[in-house]
Amino acid sequence: MGKVKKKVKVIKIDLDKCNGCRACELICSAFHANPKYSSNNPERSRIRLIRDPLRDVYLPVYAGEYAKAECMGRDKYVIDGKEYDECDFCRASCPSRDVFKEPDSGLPLKCDMCEDDPPQEKPLCVQWCINDALIYEEREEEVEEEVKQEDIDIGLESMVDKYGLQKVIDTVARMSKKG
Ligand code: SF4
Ligand code: SF4
Repeated sequence: MGKVKKKVKVIKIDLDKCNGCRACELICSAFHANPKYSSNNPERSRIRLIRDPLRDVYLPVYAGEYAKAECMGRDKYVIDGKEYDECDFCRASCPSRDVFKEPDSGLPLKCDMCEDDPPQEKPLCVQWCINDALIYEEREEEVEEEVKQEDIDIGLESMVDKYGLQKVIDTVARMSKKG
């Protein structure tokens, strides 16, 4: 299999510039509302702000992968003398907390880099952050070419046409036993 170029999208977060305005939460939740822009509930946002003005803590965190179970341990960071709470930097939608869960259904939320319909050229949270705390960057990386599901389907269909479904199932079962 050959190598292909893949676009990697990155949002760099400059904590020194974030003032906790929460515009990023607002636009993200509005863009992903159904119908679009019909509400702006931060609980539905894929970016959440950890905010503690008395300690000068403003930390935007993006929703990442869904985690079925919580971690065995917890992390706590101290940066520039400021102690962050346990799990503050974690992006997971996990059972240990309410963040990154759709409030009505409880379904996990995940940042899609605003590729939702219509896809945005630049993430909206970045566009709405007037303090330039969120900086969008793109780069290209070479990765192994993925086998497309469509190609597998076509290949399987032609084998089923030629040998019949049962024979293909038996062959796959035999191969997986060898394994
Ligand atoms: S990139 Fe788009 S989906 Fe992700 S947090 Fe920002 S506004 Fe929300
Ligand atoms: S819009 Fe920018 S400055 Fe405002 S809370 Fe979000 S990251 Fe911070």
